[in-house]
Amino acid sequence: MKKLLYLLPVLYFAILTYLSGCIGQQKPFDKTKNLKKKHPYPITILVHGGAGTILKSAMTDSLEQQYRQALIQALQAGYGVLQNGGAALNAVQAAIVFMENSPLFNAGKGAVLTHEGTVELDASVMDGNSGSAGAVAGVKTVKNPILAARKIMENSPHVMMAGVGADAFAKEQGLEIVDPSYFITEYRLRALQKILEQEKTDTTGYRIELSESGKEKYGTVGAVALDQYGNLAAGTSTGGMTNKRFGRIGDSPIIGAGTFARNQTCAVSATGHGEFFIRNVVAYDVSALMEYAHLTVTQAANRVIFDKLLPQGGSGGLIALDQQGNFTMPFNSEGMYRGYMNAHTPQPRVFIFKDE
Ligand code: ASP
Repeated sequence: MKKLLYLLPVLYFAILTYLSGCIGQQKPFDKTKNLKKKHPYPITILVHGGAGTILKSAMTDSLEQQYRQALIQALQAGYGVLQNGGAALNAVQAAIVFMENSPLFNAGKGAVLTHEGTVELDASVMDGNSGSAGAVAGVKTVKNPILAARKIMENSPHVMMAGVGADAFAKEQGLEIVDPSYFITEYRLRALQKILEQEKTDTTGYRIELSESGKEKYGTVGAVALDQYGNLAAGTSTGGMTNKRFGRIGDSPIIGAGTFARNQTCAVSATGHGEFFIRNVVAYDVSALMEYAHLTVTQAANRVIFDKLLPQGGSGGLIALDQQGNFTMPFNSEGMYRGYMNAHTPQPRVFIFKDE
């Protein structure tokens, strides 16, 4: 026993040395390292600027360049958010706001005109993490409808608001309000005049969205993103279809039709002939095929665009992204303005035509 007592100081010394060693080894808390370990998700953003009859032969080089440049800038706006550790929702919003402000796309400024020559805008957004969503339909004065959709999602108990009520809510929320004439461009005025002329000799009823070549064409914008925390988000914004009337609303503001996001499956934004996309609940169908039939995001999107919509005559496409960063951008029309940017492609990649 006495021998053991002699050993006590030695033991005490040994414990002290061990502890000081531990303290000495402890590194300062490295936030970034921890984040990387906890969040190994490959940040990714995809955008589209509409699908339809987009033929190289019908487009000037300069216009093509303008579209490509705008898609690149939209991608960069969204990717910048993700790179700075921002949320997928904010990335989607940044990309869409850019495209809404560009007169090239059928969303915000430069949107297509209704039969009466006015602009009625639709938009929606969805958070794949919480499942919350917001949408506006038929708004006429809020400069960026996607921001109004986000406000509805976050600052109201509702999912969707329409018409004057939605515009009033946007104003109350402090969003920028513009005169309706802000949205109107020469190009869209000409497109409406052309279609109204054609309508005069058409006995089959009223026509919507015919391009100058007499074929259907769209121009909606959308984005899907994956952030470093593994959250997916999707958003879509549009002016709908040229010569629409009677308060027509397309798929873009309808959660499940034009927009859907769920972390466990995918984020989707669609573009095309809205009536078909509504009837086929397109965006949700892609998610459901992944959830219930265990298809990959590419298989699910192809099934919907080519096997379901195409035989019905439902032209258009979509962009879809899953939580692992797998993505696809199928369309059954002549072309679709589209692009992506992720950690593997530090330069944005953009495409317009089918054979790219
Ligand atoms: N899907 C939109 C709508 O039907 C049109 C488009 O995508 O360009 O309103």
